[in-house]
Amino acid sequence: MPDLRQKLAEPGIILMDGATGTQLQKMGLPVGQPAELWNLQNPEAIKKHYQAYRDAGSDAILTNTFGGNRPALEKHGSGDQIHEINVAAARLAREVAGDNVLVLGSMGPTGLLMAPMRPLTYDNAVAYFAEQAAALAEGGVDGIHIETMSDLNEAKAAVEGAQQATDLPITITMSFDTHGRTMMGVRPEEAVKTLWAEDVLAVGVNCGRTLEENLQAVAAMRAAMPEAVLIAKPNAGLPRLEAGTEIVYDVTPEIMVEYARKFAAQQVKMLGGCCGSTPAHIAAIKAALEAA
Ligand SMILES: [Zn+2]
Repeated sequence: MPDLRQKLAEPGIILMDGATGTQLQKMGLPVGQPAELWNLQNPEAIKKHYQAYRDAGSDAILTNTFGGNRPALEKHGSGDQIHEINVAAARLAREVAGDNVLVLGSMGPTGLLMAPMRPLTYDNAVAYFAEQAAALAEGGVDGIHIETMSDLNEAKAAVEGAQQATDLPITITMSFDTHGRTMMGVRPEEAVKTLWAEDVLAVGVNCGRTLEENLQAVAAMRAAMPEAVLIAKPNAGLPRLEAGTEIVYDVTPEIMVEYARKFAAQQVKMLGGCCGSTPAHIAAIKAALEAA
């Protein structure tokens, strides 16, 4: 089984995958339907999705479990399936990944606001994330990857939950999509300082808005904490509607490569793409990194 700690100690960048949600929508997942249900209902599509990133050259793929925590699943009436959904996602990824590609268990936000705004208390959040992390570990993931966090307390709760449930390595990224801060007002400097102290292997940025804004957030993290191991997994720009129905992302693989070089110059150790990025983007980054 691949070992994230060991791979981080080796020279070079760990190439992650690109988007999951927007890719599954291209495969027929109706917009608005939780992608996680396909782990049980359409496992062949999920395997095909993982395989596409493996073929593109990803060193690490994320499980299709971004919204696989209890509050997120309960919104769709699937809270009672949380265990099977997460175990299945991890097992399918493990099957595709083989012995060399890392499988990281994706955990996104609960979608609830944290206390004092309610209704999510810190302890409840820890318990929700521990529940999901335990199922991902049972399914055979090599690490837990917490992503798209906006609230620093929820981010800490996710780390603590994962630590309660498993001994697996943990990585975490936040989304800086609101004028250089997260939606909840967290600055990159504050995020890296707080989260790096939580015994995680890497901290960084994902999703967000433009590549340039993601780069600025990474640069701010790097300046604030030169010794931190950093991750960049930016969106392929912002989505726009074409002809009123089709969702389009304008960042081409070529533009993504240009920014991959800039992220590499900030010494990021893990690099991939978020919403709108495809296996073609990942394959292009792979080629560029190999040529560097
Ligand atoms: Zn995204």
